Amino acid sequence: MNERANLVVIGGGLAGLSLATRLARGGYRGRVVIIEPREEYTDDRSWSFWTRADQALPVAAARHWSHWRFSRYGGDPVTHSAQGWRYSYVRSSDLYREALAVIQAQPNFKLVTGTRAGAVEHHDGAVSVVTGAATFSAPFVIDTRPPAAARFSDSTLFQCFAGRELRFGPACLDDRQVELMTDMRSDALGFVFSYVLPLSPTRALVEATRFSTRPLGQAQLSADLDQMLASRGWSDAQVMRTEAAVLPMGLPAPDASVPIPGVVQAGMGAGALRAASGFGFVRIQAWAERCARELLQGRPPVGHPAEPKLQGWMDRVFLRALANNPERSPEFFLRLAASVPGEAFVRFMSDRGGWRDHARIIAALPPWPFLQALHASSLRPGPST
Ligand SMILES: Cc1cc2nc3c(=O)[nH]c(=O)nc-3n(C[C@H](O)[C@H](O)[C@H](O)COP(=O)(O)OP(=O)(O)OC[C@H]3O[C@@H](n4cnc5c(N)ncnc54)[C@H](O)[C@@H]3O)c2cc1C
Repeated sequence: MNERANLVVIGGGLAGLSLATRLARGGYRGRVVIIEPREEYTDDRSWSFWTRADQALPVAAARHWSHWRFSRYGGDPVTHSAQGWRYSYVRSSDLYREALAVIQAQPNFKLVTGTRAGAVEHHDGAVSVVTGAATFSAPFVIDTRPPAAARFSDSTLFQCFAGRELRFGPACLDDRQVELMTDMRSDALGFVFSYVLPLSPTRALVEATRFSTRPLGQAQLSADLDQMLASRGWSDAQVMRTEAAVLPMGLPAPDASVPIPGVVQAGMGAGALRAASGFGFVRIQAWAERCARELLQGRPPVGHPAEPKLQGWMDRVFLRALANNPERSPEFFLRLAASVPGEAFVRFMSDRGGWRDHARIIAALPPWPFLQALHASSLRPGPST
């Protein structure tokens, strides 16, 4: 069976849904098909990111915090805040629910769930996407599938974590501050730290995170989390839901030597995650906004913009230094936290760093591991975003 559309979106995750909701809200008149393998949407992740305090968000954020802290295992914390900025949290179930309601209200939008896209080919001015249900063709296709395994495994580092949303009986949390990177230490598997988002005095998302040179399995990550919870006396808290990920940090650039006309890659597979942090929410929202604007004005879709050169270079050097020196990684992050003002740190992490911010980051870090990393990273190309 062949179905024609004006736009096919492969993948109804963050990037695909963010684009589709903007098109639907903007009154896009063409026929849009979104192809998504999952049968149903669950609360499978949460997105945190820094935003300007006056910035409107694409979905109601569940929480905002003005302070976040860093600490070594057993050490004193360094607390950051940044004038005019806040750390925000969006629950995936909220974003999915809102997006599905907007998309399903449009008769010209079709979300095909339980279906995986296969071959994507260009013939006679149209792109066809083969699925088990039908072949969909359109002048333009947005491909938001995750990166292929071989490319993924070539990343410099992997951010691996297991998380649980916990509910505590008595109020026991200070919910005014996020634990961004606490309990930092290194062991035989590399650099490990805790991440705690206190959602209320009785509820928190708690994660044990590792930066590793290879993807780590869930058994290891769950064991890390069990150990962290035990050390805090939190083992008996009620588990409301779980989430986990292995995110590429420093994903190699997609192979653009044979681009398919009419196909635009977006999301994580297009290198949307920031190499130094694994964060992608804000970049994906900015891309969705811009791409929707082009389509709504009758122009072809666009991909993610090129990463600012200096920032991309610094991220590559930083990742290489972390990969080469896992035992010193807690020191690197603590130096950044202690010496770089909150505003400069947040601007740098949010793709808004100027040369002064970059200079502060460089000045905070010990020179020798970074000179070695500089040499190593000059030998390999960076991601294309
Ligand atoms: C648990 C977790 C927590 C995260 N936390 C943060 C955070 O706090 N802050 C932040 O900025 N970033 C975070 N990220 C990183 C990033 O923002 C997310 O991974 C984000 O979902 C990436 O959006 P995406 O659209 O590229 O990928 P996804 O949201 O994963 O969407 C890709 C979609 O493609 C679909 N798909 C796969 N194969 C096919 C196929 N063959 N055909 C059709 N569709 C296919 C998938 O089912 C999926 O729905 C987190 C990631 C995870 C996994």
